[in-house]
Amino acid sequence: MLLYNSATHKKEEFKTHTPNHVEMYTCGPTVYHFAHIGNLRSYIMEDVLEKFLRFAGYDVNRVMNITDVGHLSSDADTGEDKMLKGAKREHKTVMEIAKFYTDAFFSDCQKLNIKRPDVVEPATNCINEYITIVSGLLDKGYAYLAGGNVYFDTSKLDRYYVFNDHNEDDLAVGVREGVEEDTNKKNRNDFVLWFTKSKFEDQALKWDSPWGVGYPGWHIECSGISLKYNGEYLDLHCGGIDNAFPHHTNEIAQSESYLGHTWCPQWFHVHHLNTNSGKMSKSKGEFLTVSLLEEKGYDPLAYRFFCLQSHYRKGLVFSWENLDNAVVAYQKLIAKIATLTEEGEVDEAVKQKYHETFLQQVGNDLNTSMAVTLIYDVLKAKTTPATKLAVIGEFDSVLSLSLLEKAAEKRKELVAQQQAQAQKGYTIHGEGDDAIDALVLQRAEAKKAKNFAEADRIRDELKAQGIEVTDVPNGAVWKRI
Ligand code: AMP
Ligand code: ZN
Repeated sequence: MLLYNSATHKKEEFKTHTPNHVEMYTCGPTVYHFAHIGNLRSYIMEDVLEKFLRFAGYDVNRVMNITDVGHLSSDADTGEDKMLKGAKREHKTVMEIAKFYTDAFFSDCQKLNIKRPDVVEPATNCINEYITIVSGLLDKGYAYLAGGNVYFDTSKLDRYYVFNDHNEDDLAVGVREGVEEDTNKKNRNDFVLWFTKSKFEDQALKWDSPWGVGYPGWHIECSGISLKYNGEYLDLHCGGIDNAFPHHTNEIAQSESYLGHTWCPQWFHVHHLNTNSGKMSKSKGEFLTVSLLEEKGYDPLAYRFFCLQSHYRKGLVFSWENLDNAVVAYQKLIAKIATLTEEGEVDEAVKQKYHETFLQQVGNDLNTSMAVTLIYDVLKAKTTPATKLAVIGEFDSVLSLSLLEKAAEKRKELVAQQQAQAQKGYTIHGEGDDAIDALVLQRAEAKKAKNFAEADRIRDELKAQGIEVTDVPNGAVWKRI
């Protein structure tokens, strides 16, 4: 597989430390609010990546944290604690908020067919691991105590900015944006490993440590959890592009300084879901959730389809119109699959050929829109319907659009409609092919609903398959020409 690596700024052949095995880490959600559909874009694309790797024959150990402590409103360790903010907003305890929004996150994931990672670990479960790493960093001289907090000393590194070639001043501006500078820091980009002197007197979660009662910084959580469950050699680290700096940059700084060797050679970043007014973000307070999509009558999987239609390394603009277009395309695809029957044997050679094409084309930097194109190629192929269904089923083990299940439902609907029509005296006289009967009926339904464009489209599609339809009173006749 070829995958773009943010650490080298190049598309490269995917490599692992152990043959056929991937140690994969994903930054999980900060559970102070619902995940928005932008966050979920990242999780959808990471899910496809994981499933693609499994499709390609890798065994994957995927680990994800749940951030339930330490993430302050500025990623640069200043501002208010996000969890505390959520608890105040809802007059609940931090743990109640964490549980509620963790459950809500996984319920959204389920609706979007996002697989639960093999290991899911709340940050508050691994305090001892963070203390071990912070102690190690202090011993090696990479960290210092100031004003009661422990900081990572970025001046000790030869290369701190691993993901971009920006100049230091530009990045530092981002860090300081709108918040006062922490005067304890020796260097502007130093970051907190362990807080004891918090300005939040009411910080709910605190643990004893060699440096006093306090709580971990946000970045150390991911290093600690990954080292615990992925081991010292991580193959692939994922997250949204906003995490590249400072979060991932700091993860690398502390992990590699602690370990004394390269930690993770491959970094996968998903670009943002944007609205007309910029990046969708929880802190802005106005964002779209999966529940809201459902309330408006959208199938969450149509949103997944919308995400798969574009490349993960491009910003994606959300608008209702764009989503509506994806809904139409998704339904059209399902309707086409619904016309396939289990007829004939599965042609294993054809199936294998498509398996290889999928590996090669989708494996070119996770080209998910190509995967959708490939499904259309399969639908048009000269092979048995059973082979087409088998190939589409295989592709969907990666795409997770529930294509076969939805097509089966659609087919049932069509059969029921057909029976209802027959009762009303509408009959289709054809040459004994359920798939063609279903299309002819879809055309009749479209005409009844005065959707003449759709009726014409189906007629053309039938024509392309060499079928001629003639309307007769209370029915239609079709024949192969
Ligand atoms: P958070 O819950 O804020 O820690 O974010 C969870 C994940 O969503 C992280 O990987 C972020 O990088 C990612 N993310 C945040 N905003 C967006 C967005 N608008 N589009 C795509 N991913 C995002
Ligand atoms: Zn992380």
